[in-house]
Amino acid sequence: MTVSQNMWRNDFPGLSGTMNGKPVAFLDSAASAQKLRVVIDAMHEVMSQGYANIHRGLYQFSSDLTARFEAVRARVAAFIGASNPDHIIFTHNTTESINLVAASWGSATLQPDDDIILTAMEHHANIVPWQMVAARAGATIRVWPVTAQGTLDINDLIPILSLHTKMVAFTHVSNVLGTINDVATIIKTIRIHAPQAKILIDGSQAAPHLPLNMADIDADFYVFTGHKIYGPTGVGVLVASPHIMNALPPFMGGGDMIDHVVLPVGTTYRTSPARFEAGTPAIIDVIGLGAAIDYISAIGWPEIIAHERTLSRALFDALNTVSDITIYGPEIASPPIGVFSFSVDWAHPSEIAMILDQCGVAVRTGHHCAEPLHTHLGIAGTTRASIGLYTDMNDIDQFADAMSKAKRMLS
Ligand code: PMP
Repeated sequence: MTVSQNMWRNDFPGLSGTMNGKPVAFLDSAASAQKLRVVIDAMHEVMSQGYANIHRGLYQFSSDLTARFEAVRARVAAFIGASNPDHIIFTHNTTESINLVAASWGSATLQPDDDIILTAMEHHANIVPWQMVAARAGATIRVWPVTAQGTLDINDLIPILSLHTKMVAFTHVSNVLGTINDVATIIKTIRIHAPQAKILIDGSQAAPHLPLNMADIDADFYVFTGHKIYGPTGVGVLVASPHIMNALPPFMGGGDMIDHVVLPVGTTYRTSPARFEAGTPAIIDVIGLGAAIDYISAIGWPEIIAHERTLSRALFDALNTVSDITIYGPEIASPPIGVFSFSVDWAHPSEIAMILDQCGVAVRTGHHCAEPLHTHLGIAGTTRASIGLYTDMNDIDQFADAMSKAKRMLS
């Protein structure tokens, strides 16, 4: 298959229409990906036939859908190399997964002398929950700086690891720079220098582009979000072993997470994952997520990575033809992650985005929920172009033409 005839593109109905009368060049997949027809169909089907609440009903609709829901848990576990379906906790997005860990683990663990280490390249979802829980406990947030190349250097981490370090939380892939952090190696180093520390990895930008193997990565908590991997909004994943989670207090209380409810006090809780899935879960979204995972698995990672490397390279080359441009992040010959944030001397990011929009090109502007990283880069915001499975060479050409038009109009 050549990239200009991307056969997967037709599986995304949202790309068949137009934007401002032009074919859609959707280069904002890092924010949220387009939806697969198989995802839409699976969700439609589950709402149209045999729908019921799960886990509790003793009738066929409920027991069948419970089985389908739990089968997705098993398929998610297989997809990311988790050793057991019980390691998969369904949340509503990455943000909730991190808040769950920060609130449950933090309230049970953190003391005033403790440190939480975060990098300067984190998304706000992996900063603010830690700040909130640190403030409550009187713990300290320490920052692992980002290098001038937009990477993390383990030698900058080692001096701030200590006996006080209780959590190191960092991203697998930067949503601004496209940097891929060598999480397995970093985690091994943390385990040597701060064996008592727990480690959380934000896999939001890794899950859509890289094969994941939880056993190799060996994090205590790994999180990602369904809507970036061609699934629906409203479902996220927290990967954590019941061994850790059963020692923690629940995040939210309610139905389905209890063993027995006793008044006035004395309620007992189920074991993980049920312990952390209070209330009716995102049943329809989980079914949709299962369809997305099946689709990706059927293609296979080698094909996806080859395609995305080619498109990333083409996007990078197109950006490099733009005059007076700064592209942030490490310069990799053929990046498997097609996320590029840039600024130009001749226009503000929002002016560029407006002209690109008129040309049918969707990009994102601003700090991309990574304000500390932009502060480190010394800029208020950037324009970000990012690819997905469906991106093809026409998108890149349309983007390049639109950038030329923006340059003519704005400089
Ligand atoms: N972390 C990273 C690296 C992200 O890119 C995003 C989404 N922009 C999030 C966390 C938050 O994901 P969600 O909004 O689905 O919770």
